[in-house]
Amino acid sequence: MTTPNNFTSPGDSQQPTEKKTENLLTPTALITGITGQDGSYLTELLLEKGYEVHGLVRRSSTLERSRLQHLYADPDAYSTRLFLHYADLDDPTTIRRIVTKVQPTEFYHLAGQSHVGLSFDIPESTCDVTAIGTLRIMEILRDQPTPPKFLHASSREIFGTPDINPQNETTPVNPNSPYGCAKAFATQMVKIYRESHGLFFCNAICYNHESPRRGENFVTRKVTLAAARIKKGLQKSVTLGDLDAARDWGYAKDFVHAMWLMLQHDHAEDFVLATGQSHTIRDLLQTAFSHVSLNWEDHVKVDDRFKRPADACQLLGDPTKAREILGWTPTVNFEQLVALMVDHDLEISARP
Ligand code: NAP
Repeated sequence: MTTPNNFTSPGDSQQPTEKKTENLLTPTALITGITGQDGSYLTELLLEKGYEVHGLVRRSSTLERSRLQHLYADPDAYSTRLFLHYADLDDPTTIRRIVTKVQPTEFYHLAGQSHVGLSFDIPESTCDVTAIGTLRIMEILRDQPTPPKFLHASSREIFGTPDINPQNETTPVNPNSPYGCAKAFATQMVKIYRESHGLFFCNAICYNHESPRRGENFVTRKVTLAAARIKKGLQKSVTLGDLDAARDWGYAKDFVHAMWLMLQHDHAEDFVLATGQSHTIRDLLQTAFSHVSLNWEDHVKVDDRFKRPADACQLLGDPTKAREILGWTPTVNFEQLVALMVDHDLEISARP
């Protein structure tokens, strides 16, 4: 069956019915959250590196999976080396069946309710998916004859509003949002499984990372889209919350490369992934709007309703360990990141 946008649904793809035996040297990755920002970039990276890639997708009423669209159209990828399987994180029976069939050598757990602000509105489902969902997957992997290497996409939100700046792998965990609390639970459980069961399980403690594929309800994308649309005359203004909030913003492609490096390391460890540079929302506005020769102050409104109940205002990561042990350094700086996002949004704003 082919859908109107030429996507084949996962259930209809030519998935391998049993684990291939002809080439046991082909590394096989299973990715949760493959349709997300990071999942899509990680898929491209692993396909480039010769992996067979399997992804879990949720059933939804549409087959719109825009971040993977280019791979569906690639005959060397979809149904050849890239396979999608339906499974929700609250469905461990199905996930167990898929893991048993695919027998991944590497498991990248990226799925979750990823919006911190929204987690105050939907705390229960955020914790179920992000905290318990991660535990369910680890239980399934623990039972495998050869458990895969496992990476959990943790978050700097586990630190809450820390007294120490910058934060590193030893900073005390003290979350101040339901999202941060769920990630803290999952992060600690990963550590417990590594230490108690001797498994290659690790946490990538990620600071914010962005790209043209970032969801449109995240502040970076809201700003870059607004700058592009205002420039094109499609929008007049944008409304934001706390302009003094500062973030350590990196490029998503750099971050998924670091995640891959973590699973190639000779033993499992947790790593902070960050740029070590902090910028405020004001800096973001200045950089995005000046890229299209506009003055941001003419177009920005502030509304307290967009402020979070509790916000970690100054968060800055220390990526020294990732640099020294993995040899990882970000390749795209803040100005370059904002420019490539605005350029992308100018291009999509010009489409009919
Ligand atoms: P994203 O774009 O929001 O993608 C989230 C992915 O999770 C999507 O594929 C989504 O599927 C999937 N998902 C959500 N709930 C699910 C469920 N119940 N069952 C199955 N799949 C589910 O997030 P991202 O930016 O790529 O981030 C990847 C991971 O890194 C997340 O866990 C996030 O919390 C963490 N992280 C991200 C950042 C950042 O700055 N990006 C920073 C720290 C940590 P649908 O497409 O169907 O919605």
